[in-house]
Amino acid sequence: MAKILIVEDELDLAELVKNWLQKEQHLVEIVDNGNDGFQCLKVNRYDLLILDLMLPGMDGLEICSRYRQGSGTMPILILTARASSREKELGLDIGADDYLSKPFDLKELAARVRALLRRGNSTTYGDRYRIGNVIVEVGKHLVTRDGAEIRLLPQEYRLLEFFVRHSQHVFSPEQLLDCVWESGSAAMVDTVRGHIQRLRKKLDPPVGESIISTVHGLGYKVDATRC
Ligand code: CA
Repeated sequence: MAKILIVEDELDLAELVKNWLQKEQHLVEIVDNGNDGFQCLKVNRYDLLILDLMLPGMDGLEICSRYRQGSGTMPILILTARASSREKELGLDIGADDYLSKPFDLKELAARVRALLRRGNSTTYGDRYRIGNVIVEVGKHLVTRDGAEIRLLPQEYRLLEFFVRHSQHVFSPEQLLDCVWESGSAAMVDTVRGHIQRLRKKLDPPVGESIISTVHGLGYKVDATRC
């Protein structure tokens, strides 16, 4: 038995999925908008999240991104009506574990759910990463260089954690703004660039390459390894 949250505004579909999963003895809750969905994740514990992307309120990508930024490790299955493979890729990049395109077969959904639950919480969201001489301990929100703690402001830390969790992936400033900053905040791409500059200033070695690489014309990336 697993406790599963479905965040989906198409209630007929959500009920179908719920009934199917209840037959497999799961405990299933439905929320029909993004804000309530995110609130549920903050106050309740689930074993799996089934998440629609297009939602009233906070959308699925933001829920996923914010949940992972908060070090949440529960498996996430995204349901998407959007045809764009870019959306799917972005969903997986920001921490979803799997996705299904609508319309889908309920048997297929159940098989994905079983696979994700088998993986349980042993996802790739480990807690210690190395970038050169810098160590990022995600669970503790601790950043050290050569053993000495480096103090980061909360938003600088969020950005760094986002980079290490998506090692080697290149993000444009616009994507970083979407994924790491609150929607509706006054931040702009210059804010993102400013944070990258400050991270470099605080974390880069006195000589040699920056821990945040600029990929010309595309954006920025970090090469981090789990340790
Ligand atoms: Ca929807």
